[in-house]
Amino acid sequence: MTMFKSPARLMAMTALMVLHQGLAMAQMPAQQPDAKTFKLGKLDIVALHDAQFVKPNDGKTFGIDHSPAEVGELLKAAGAPTDAITLSVDALLVKSKNNIVLIDTGVGGALQDSLAKAGVKPGDVNEVLITHSHPDHIGGLVKDGKLAFPNATIRMSDVEWSFAKSNKDVADIVKVIADRVKPFKAGAQVAPGITSVSLKGHTPGHVGYQIKSGKERLFDIGDTVHSSILSLAKPDWAVAFDGDKPEAEHNRAKTLAKLAKDQELIFAPHFPFPGVGHIEKDGDHFKWAPSDKPQ
Ligand SMILES: [Zn+2]
Repeated sequence: MTMFKSPARLMAMTALMVLHQGLAMAQMPAQQPDAKTFKLGKLDIVALHDAQFVKPNDGKTFGIDHSPAEVGELLKAAGAPTDAITLSVDALLVKSKNNIVLIDTGVGGALQDSLAKAGVKPGDVNEVLITHSHPDHIGGLVKDGKLAFPNATIRMSDVEWSFAKSNKDVADIVKVIADRVKPFKAGAQVAPGITSVSLKGHTPGHVGYQIKSGKERLFDIGDTVHSSILSLAKPDWAVAFDGDKPEAEHNRAKTLAKLAKDQELIFAPHFPFPGVGHIEKDGDHFKWAPSDKPQ
């Protein structure tokens, strides 16, 4: 497949493999571009598909303190296959009259083709906001060893940028983007109508982005959650991807409770594409209610 020939993509894939060292390798089915659009006040929002990861249900990624049989029960109850956990990798585009803002960039899969589907050229993007510096969120910043979005300022929290610079797994990406990164303090407004929100635990400087236009809101919660089934059924179960597991579990439970109470529209980059919907309370845990707005 041609996508594996690009050095930038190879680099991102390699980084991902290193990140998941000791874990079963993510299988990568064919990556199909997709773009789904909806209005949020005066803004045009586009969910962009990048890749699909399939992790075996082997107790190494989800439910690491629980048996694959227990995980399988939850998957079965949700009507999903019990031998594997599928995660989408998606990004979000926020278009206003004068700004084209991309939130996260995927691993370097189909994102560029998905952008083209949305009628946006890489050079049109003037700001890239990063939730955190894992390769499945910053891998798409670099293409063929160069900046994939040549006119964009790249923004992430100051804590996250320090973390990225100290992480040798993403050193090749950091080297290419360093001159373009403009860090901010978590909580800062980062673009017109877009404010960063600290959501610590998954990585040290992980943030979400609250997008507002008129009375409408959308919250990109980044990797606060991963699986639309397991992260909501068992928010207190450890996930291998989380850097600080107790902090991530605490933050996940707190954030989900608030999102369900406020009935806030969210975007979750690893939920089934397009990843837009609501969190609902379901007994002592939560469930996913996908929105039919994105078309
Ligand atoms: Zn991720």
